[in-house]
Amino acid sequence: FNTEQFGQHILKNPQVAQSIVEKANLKPTDIVLEVGPGTGNLTIKILEQAKHVTAVEMDPRMAAELTKRVQGKPEQRKLDIIIGDFVKADLPYFDVCISNTPYQISSPLIFRLLSHRPLPRVCILMFQREFALRLVAKSGSTLWSRLSANVQLYAKVDYLMHVGKNNFRPPPKVESSVVRVAPRDPPPPVRFEEFDGLGRILFSRRNKTIHGNFMAKGVIPMLEKNWRTYCSETNQMVEDDVDMKAKVEKILEETGNTENRAAKMDVDDLLKLLYAFHEVGIHFA
Ligand code: SAM
Repeated sequence: FNTEQFGQHILKNPQVAQSIVEKANLKPTDIVLEVGPGTGNLTIKILEQAKHVTAVEMDPRMAAELTKRVQGKPEQRKLDIIIGDFVKADLPYFDVCISNTPYQISSPLIFRLLSHRPLPRVCILMFQREFALRLVAKSGSTLWSRLSANVQLYAKVDYLMHVGKNNFRPPPKVESSVVRVAPRDPPPPVRFEEFDGLGRILFSRRNKTIHGNFMAKGVIPMLEKNWRTYCSETNQMVEDDVDMKAKVEKILEETGNTENRAAKMDVDDLLKLLYAFHEVGIHFA
């Protein structure tokens, strides 16, 4: 294990740790998941307020240090430590997730939390500044991206605070930010792969027109292939010489999106376009 590979930058400023935990508005009945507790600077504060904490830590030496820290104290009974990789670990039920994890697992972390069932009430997460800013970006802004759309499809994301590098030991190379991710419950009734599949096309050049992106190499043949699969799965007859390009152009025209750009479309605009394609059997996954 080494500092860089596992992103072991310990949060040494107790005020910052305290305010991160306070942002979760924990109730005494809450069951909390913490990812990458390290030596437990956040864990100790979470244990003061929650009913139970499960902490997933990959480095056994860190886990041992955390175990030692609660040993013989009343908090010991409230803490379970899973030693292993969060990405592969079986997760227990939790109401809230609080985490300051290495930034290499930012994407898997957020998507795993959003696909967990039942959905957590809220997640308070520390990320590299640039990643956090993309999570909260609004359509029309320069940072609005496929990541922003995919996360905002499932959650309301708010920027909470800036945490400078000197609050960590050793200080990382990058600046950090804390965000609140509140999952939409129930989640919108759309398959992630479909929404993301449309996003892949539209955001491949976010400032290009939607029409232009659909005409990029390989897109129309891919949609035709998906369409044939969909038709055969739903027992529909298909013509041999279908004009997929014309079908796509008709939808873009009817929904007023031909000259639109992903850079300006919000989650609702994207969903409306996706549903219009689905109505005629065109799928993105
Ligand atoms: N949360 C502590 C704090 O704020 O002081 C430690 C933060 S440190 C940035 C990240 C921690 O996550 C380290 O203890 C590291 O060993 C652990 N870690 C790294 N990759 C992990 C993974 N895939 N699953 C679980 N823990 C991981």
